[in-house]
Amino acid sequence: MRFIADAMLGRLARWLRFLGFDTLYYPDISDGRLIRIAREQDRFILTRDTRLVKRKGLNNYLLINANNSFKQLFQVLDTLKIRRFKPLSRCVACNGQLSQISDKTEVKDLVPEYVFLHYKVFFRCNDCGKIYWEGSHPRKFKEKLVDILKKE
Ligand SMILES: [Zn+2]
Repeated sequence: MRFIADAMLGRLARWLRFLGFDTLYYPDISDGRLIRIAREQDRFILTRDTRLVKRKGLNNYLLINANNSFKQLFQVLDTLKIRRFKPLSRCVACNGQLSQISDKTEVKDLVPEYVFLHYKVFFRCNDCGKIYWEGSHPRKFKEKLVDILKKE
């Protein structure tokens, strides 16, 4: 499932990337361009814009109601019945794909020392170079997510 989020849904876009979903987000994008990209790349539109969804011939969209980004995430997962995730596969910052780093000494100077010492598996964004590791998922988020998925 691939998404494109409108300008009001930056935090939601980051959570979706966090869970491994290919999610485009541009802080400034016209409705026309958003719809065009969605069509060209077969992406599901996530929007808060009631005006946008009234456009003719628009399908594959979800109008997001909540203000809170966790509630928004819940709405997406619930409505689309998504229960499988692939964390540590997408860059939260740029949506690039992550690759596992085979030799962890490569990241020695790129992460805090305690992280280097305590984690074994690291990933790098193929596009922006950002480094990730297992523990870079905030525990709070994991707990929230478990809560969300329990509410079925
Ligand atoms: Zn990146």
